[in-house]
Amino acid sequence: MAGPEQVVYPGERAEAGLDDVPGSVLLPGHDVPLGRFTTVRRLLPHRQRRLIGAWCFVDSFGPDLVAGQPGMQVPPHPHCGLQTVTWLVAGEIAHRDSLGNARSVTPGGLHLMTSGHGIAHSEQSPREHPDLMHGLQLWVALPDGARDIAPAFDSYEDLPTLSEDAARVSVVVGEYAGARSPARVHTPLLGLEAQLSAGGRWALRAAPRFEHGLLVLTGSVRVAGTLLERGSLLYVPPQDAGGELPVEALEDSTLFVVGGEPFDEPLVMWWNFVARTHEEIVAARDDWAAGRRFGQVGGCERAALPAPTMPGVRLKARDRHGGVLS
Ligand code: MN
Repeated sequence: MAGPEQVVYPGERAEAGLDDVPGSVLLPGHDVPLGRFTTVRRLLPHRQRRLIGAWCFVDSFGPDLVAGQPGMQVPPHPHCGLQTVTWLVAGEIAHRDSLGNARSVTPGGLHLMTSGHGIAHSEQSPREHPDLMHGLQLWVALPDGARDIAPAFDSYEDLPTLSEDAARVSVVVGEYAGARSPARVHTPLLGLEAQLSAGGRWALRAAPRFEHGLLVLTGSVRVAGTLLERGSLLYVPPQDAGGELPVEALEDSTLFVVGGEPFDEPLVMWWNFVARTHEEIVAARDDWAAGRRFGQVGGCERAALPAPTMPGVRLKARDRHGGVLS
């Protein structure tokens, strides 16, 4: 999915988080139009939170009724310095990329694109598509030692699942309760989906030193007494010894959890690029404009997205707290 021209921090203020977890905070997302046909709810980055682990971007979309409509139509565009995770609750997306992959992205599987040094892709609802589109797209910043690796696209259809209390948990990324996702990531990271029936209870076991973000895809829950509904992200800071976050489903609910060890490398994020310096962003933009580095997406009839004009000021690297470093 295509990112923002510039990361804009809207005026929404954070709300109080969990009573007994200092530093926890409820972050309301904001709606962002994505192309002509899709609006997404951007939950990260937020004005008051840039990263959760190395997760640097969380877009939630739908459920949208797309019967008889184009659905998602994102033309070819480039990425570098990141991995994208596409997780669908409903719908279908045709993914095509500059490695020659043409894949169908469907619910229940993890679809992980590693941009490494550079890849281009398009994401389109197929002409014949399910009536609903509903899911997440997330980005993971690659650490310095992995951000220039070769690009790849991997689908993991058989993720480990476990039943814990009243929840059915899929381990999408990382390890939870002894179950490890096969997805190849490059920093200590967690991605989980938990399904609960109305009234069901579950305790998310937070790993020591991991920070977490919780969101609901369907339904609504209470997390340690705090109401969590669609459209907001509940941030829970790292606890030295870990801990348990009690979850109670107020209706049939699907919860998604992102987590990881705090990511300490300063980043420059602009458009679809994650880099370290202004110069790296300029080089990526120039390479895309000149048809270098990212390759061509075959089989997509839509014209590639041109990069937006760069702002007249230098882009600054920021640390995970938002502090300007250069
Ligand atoms: Mn994309």
